[in-house]
Amino acid sequence: MVTFTVRGTLLSTPTPDRLQVREDHVVTIDDHGVIATVEPASVSVVADVTLPEGTYLLPGLIDLHVHAPQWPQLGTGLDVPLDEWLFQYTFPLEARYRDRAFAERIWASLVPGLLARGTTTAVYYSSIHEPATLALAEACVRFGQRAFVGRVAMDHPEGTPEFYRDADAITGVEASARSLEAINGLGSPLVRGIITPRFIPACTDALLEGLGELATATGALVQSHCSENDWEHQYVLDRFGVSDSVALARFGLARDHSVLAHGCLLSDDDMTVLARVGAGVAHCPLSNVYFGNAVFPVRRAMARGLRVGLGTDIAGGAEAGLLPVCAHAVNMSRVLEDGVDQRLSPAGRGVSSSAIDVTTAFWLATGGGADVLGIPAGRLEVGERFDAISVATRPADRPGIGVSVWDLDDWPRVFEKIVRLATPADITGVWVDGVPAAGISVAG
Ligand SMILES: [Zn+2]
Repeated sequence: MVTFTVRGTLLSTPTPDRLQVREDHVVTIDDHGVIATVEPASVSVVADVTLPEGTYLLPGLIDLHVHAPQWPQLGTGLDVPLDEWLFQYTFPLEARYRDRAFAERIWASLVPGLLARGTTTAVYYSSIHEPATLALAEACVRFGQRAFVGRVAMDHPEGTPEFYRDADAITGVEASARSLEAINGLGSPLVRGIITPRFIPACTDALLEGLGELATATGALVQSHCSENDWEHQYVLDRFGVSDSVALARFGLARDHSVLAHGCLLSDDDMTVLARVGAGVAHCPLSNVYFGNAVFPVRRAMARGLRVGLGTDIAGGAEAGLLPVCAHAVNMSRVLEDGVDQRLSPAGRGVSSSAIDVTTAFWLATGGGADVLGIPAGRLEVGERFDAISVATRPADRPGIGVSVWDLDDWPRVFEKIVRLATPADITGVWVDGVPAAGISVAG
């Protein structure tokens, strides 16, 4: 049974190199939130929601890497390297989430804040605390955001502070198992638990082993960090004599649809290992500027068959919206292509064939992210969940703010302007699973 219809012009990227424009179409969504048809509108059809002239329907955005407890420090604390940043700013803040009431205050700002920026799916690291983690999952259900929510597991006495760690490996594995069960026990079609070893330096071998077994036993997805920067990459080489990717694969943590953040220092062999097991990379271009020591080579990774999507990495990346992160992904790929040291000759300054364009970046933020997770979202196609946003543009000769479109703009330029320039004020509608997200007004 059809429950509702949306009429408007659709802008989407069915593949990494193709912008698809479907002018004046009607999308019908069935009562399960699944797209039943996408067809050209006939003149007389009256839809439940008709987007105004200049407002466009796009797939919802999929943020593969969010540290939910770091929301209050977004935009700050980027003055020290990763290992110092964790101990100086991040662990003390995350430890506060032992107080569920404090956590609830933050989640009530974070979840609608991301929805308002068009993030219809988020993959969250919570803190080590089970009550705060369950509260985050409940907030996602309440506000209507698709989400994977993970209790952070970390027990290594050297890689974590005494005031913020699991007591030991067994305690950590048991807490993660209980947290997974509690989140999945909410029975929401939108929200699932995800197994979340913070990263290898914060975890003992026993914890990594236990979480790998938990993943095998439950089939739950896994997220972690992988080869993020020189310090972390070298730490794993020193401890195990193999790269992060190989170590995570041996522990059963790099597996089908695992979400591995950053990957800045992945070698070609690492990419082959990860592609073979079906793991994907959450590319966090802005965060990598501060903590990554290198630019993740998106195009090389995609060419090797690695799944790749985008992440904000709140709060390592000082940006909450995934549309701006698309622009950052383009920017950083151009920096990689051209190089940065002006004392070198142009030929030796950069890495050729590295640049991506806005179409590829938007694909990473939608279909690419969906493929990393293995979820039927990120595409406005029959059979997919209706996770979508509407974005308003305005005639350029009308004074004021917003995405200005001139009569000389063709479709690729309109699309590029939306991706590069749209702010939360321009996002007029957000639907997840066919339902308008709570607290977000829908144009029509
Ligand atoms: Zn991270």
